[in-house]
Amino acid sequence: MMSETTHPPPVRVAGPVSVARLHSEACFYYGAVTKTLAAAGSVVVIGAERVWPIVTCGRHKAMAR
Ligand SMILES: [Zn+2]
Repeated sequence: MMSETTHPPPVRVAGPVSVARLHSEACFYYGAVTKTLAAAGSVVVIGAERVWPIVTCGRHKAMAR
């Protein structure tokens, strides 16, 4: 499914990052596993040039800025 909408560029983060977070199984910032995780852009782990979509629980959006 192609999308022509504008997405923010991936956020570069220093690893290691837990696999659960990279696999969108836990809030990227908080590590929380809730039923209300929402897509929150994507990240690139420095040193591993791969883009991972991430999710957050939405309780700390300010951290994404
Ligand atoms: Zn969270």
